[in-house]
Amino acid sequence: MERTAIHVSSEEMARQRAAMAEIRDLPQRPESYHVVTYGCQMNAHDSEKLAGMLEEMGMRPAPTREEADFVIFNTCCVRDNAERRALGNVTWLKEVRKTRPNLMIAVCGCMIQEPGMAEKILKQYRFIDLAFGTANLHRFPELMLEALNSRAGLVRVTGEDVIAEDLPVRRVRQDAAYLTIMYGCDNFCSFCIVPYVRGRERSREPSDILREAEALQKSGVQEIMLLGQNVNSYGKGLAQPVSFAGLLRELDGMGIPRIRFMTSHPKDLSDDLIEAMAGSRHILPQFHLPVQSGNDEILRRMNRHYTRDQYLDRVAALRRAVPGIGLSTDIIVSFPGETEAQFEDTLSLVEQVRYDSAFTFIYSPRTGTRAAAMEGQIPEEVSKERIQRLIALQEGLQQETLRRFVGQEEEVLVEGLSRRSDRAVSGKGRHGVSVTLPGTASDTGTIVRCRITKVKNNTLMGERLEQS
Ligand code: SF4
Repeated sequence: MERTAIHVSSEEMARQRAAMAEIRDLPQRPESYHVVTYGCQMNAHDSEKLAGMLEEMGMRPAPTREEADFVIFNTCCVRDNAERRALGNVTWLKEVRKTRPNLMIAVCGCMIQEPGMAEKILKQYRFIDLAFGTANLHRFPELMLEALNSRAGLVRVTGEDVIAEDLPVRRVRQDAAYLTIMYGCDNFCSFCIVPYVRGRERSREPSDILREAEALQKSGVQEIMLLGQNVNSYGKGLAQPVSFAGLLRELDGMGIPRIRFMTSHPKDLSDDLIEAMAGSRHILPQFHLPVQSGNDEILRRMNRHYTRDQYLDRVAALRRAVPGIGLSTDIIVSFPGETEAQFEDTLSLVEQVRYDSAFTFIYSPRTGTRAAAMEGQIPEEVSKERIQRLIALQEGLQQETLRRFVGQEEEVLVEGLSRRSDRAVSGKGRHGVSVTLPGTASDTGTIVRCRITKVKNNTLMGERLEQS
């Protein structure tokens, strides 16, 4: 197939494969690796690619970072605390190296792409052997080879917004897999650093996605999670544009038991997508629809391009088409200038929608974003008080909302033994809610039918039903 310029060339990918082979034969290469991941599912999947490449280089995974010869931190910069944690852990490893001089340390991911971070790394973290941003992920083998040969503290940030196909992947789970369908984001929400560090939106070719999905199906996965910063706008810029709804219909036809996706932007949630979900057999009845705020003025200043009413209209449309759908969201409190009344609009929206779960955050200013320069940054004590009220409200509502499942049948993809008992297992039901039910470790990776008996601490408890 004719490739557009955003795809990494086959020559470049061949160079990376050659670098991996060369590293495998190097006498002084590390024997073992450990990847430390911060942030979202995109980062988790990038870490699976890093692990895949490291194994092609001949390294084996070490269970802890203390035991590894090579430790790589895959960082996130969406919130300030993720960044501080990553840098704190990197610095701690510097101490470990005093007793293990051959330990190699690398840092990659979104944080490295931040403006000014490369200079900071060069100046303050000189002990780091290798640092590179998300734009250079596919070039990791070449950079690693260079680092092994020179040990000069390499920092690479610049790179095109590209799509690299066929990177090796070492999946964390065998029963469930991430499948990236697009990269980057064009939305520039005023609080968000992602478009600056992950680049502009670019969609993978449907044929590449379907090919990967087919390989995953053959390998026996029960569930795929389609990934993108804004999957609803998938397809922009493709030579033969395909909508996300169209892609979902194709994937649904393949017969993989469960298909999920993340993340969606409310402004791009089309009726066609809702119809595709309603008419599907394998797309799970769950939707993560970040609202961020329940107040129109705050939404406008966040550059979200929808109003409270438009958001509620999308929620109603989803619930009409897919009755009982599991809904979750992201909410930011204390966006600059947020008044008490505006915050209360968020509380009232949460009360109105009744989410199955909500990820709540205090606004965290990110240098380079428009909101960071806005007036009216909210004092910490006000933010803490607001988030506690929001969490308390959501937790109370969640208990009630989840009660709709009691007495219902649910299918659970078992992730493993429950943390509380070795005679119980837990996993996610079709609606995206965690379920605990009787079982043993041998259930891991299988889909088990159960009936929900009660709600306990925001999880569902189930009893097993005969398998059909
Ligand atoms: S849609 Fe907004 S919040 Fe989501 S990644 Fe893009 S800019 Fe960030």
